Amino acid sequence: MSDLPEDETNQTQGEKIVNTPKPSDPPAIEVTHLTRSFSGIQAVNNISFEISRGQVVGFVGANGAGKTTTMRILATLDYPNSGEVKVCGINVVDYPAEVRRKIGWMPDNYGTYQNMTVVEYLDFFARALGYQGQERINRIVEVMEFTDLASLADRLIDKLSKGMGQRLCLGRALLHDPEVLVLDEPAAGLDPKARVELKHLIRILAEDGKTVFISSHILSELDEMCDSLLFINEGKIIHHGSSENLRKKKSSTCLVEVQLKDPPEKLKEWASLAPGVTFRDSTKRGGRIEVEPAADEDIAQVLRRMISDGLSIIDFHQEERKLEDAFIEILGEIEESSTLGVS
Ligand code: ATP
Repeated sequence: MSDLPEDETNQTQGEKIVNTPKPSDPPAIEVTHLTRSFSGIQAVNNISFEISRGQVVGFVGANGAGKTTTMRILATLDYPNSGEVKVCGINVVDYPAEVRRKIGWMPDNYGTYQNMTVVEYLDFFARALGYQGQERINRIVEVMEFTDLASLADRLIDKLSKGMGQRLCLGRALLHDPEVLVLDEPAAGLDPKARVELKHLIRILAEDGKTVFISSHILSELDEMCDSLLFINEGKIIHHGSSENLRKKKSSTCLVEVQLKDPPEKLKEWASLAPGVTFRDSTKRGGRIEVEPAADEDIAQVLRRMISDGLSIIDFHQEERKLEDAFIEILGEIEESSTLGVS
């Protein structure tokens, strides 16, 4: 059994307790060679990753990739077959109760508590967490205000919309003011407005110094709110880094959209003769070309050549590479190397 790390110091700013990580603090999440299988199904296959304090990290993968399994182990709801998992330096297997104090877990549904009102539901969990008297009331009020549920305090849970229900579930995860939040698909099934509200709440939590580990299938959504992205595929981590790095890592070519004063066909004609340039498709006033290699100097050189060849350019801009494309390319490479027997 590993030792518990020494208690970390919190600083008081007025009424509010703010967690101020020190450089010597262990990472919020440390996963080392984690493996979990279920009767022959390898759900998580020897994965390792680390999340620093105060980071918002997106966990991305297809259905069945191993996200929920990893998150449930972090939340002390399941055990690894092998490997080690620590939350704020505390081993989840050796000290589950201590880990639960550090972690707020939001599962992908909030169970069957249909005959309770919002306030009864939060009160039930606040009691289970050991809050008493005025402190319990304060925690419930704070959480209801933060998640904008105060006006719905007496509403039955089965009368809540999906978005309200997700906010309630987030509120429950926040009751004990955890340092680390593990959120499994919190935006699934939400309409665009509810998604924006949820993103806003997550950014506030991050500004407050909390670490947020959040799963989703929707890359663009995570891209907007996360500091970095962790990709899992068939139980293995295939990329961990910022979305910027992912876009750059995979791009050997770049797409440039060009608008001309001349007829659009002129662009196609020009591209057919230009080295390192491939015409991709036409637009109303020009078209898109692919430039290879994608270094800034090569792109600038293409623009200079167009001008010296007499094209009348009114717009020339590089298109942002889609994260989905970069992700699919990584998957393609993995498939190719496994076909070739490279590991
Ligand atoms: P989704 O996005 O669909 O929720 P996920 O990435 O969260 O998928 P997991 O739920 O972790 O994936 O599942 C990973 C694999 O492990 C799947 O093949 C799943 O069927 C299997 N699995 C997960 N939990 C169990 C279990 N309790 N018993 C048997 N198989 C399981």
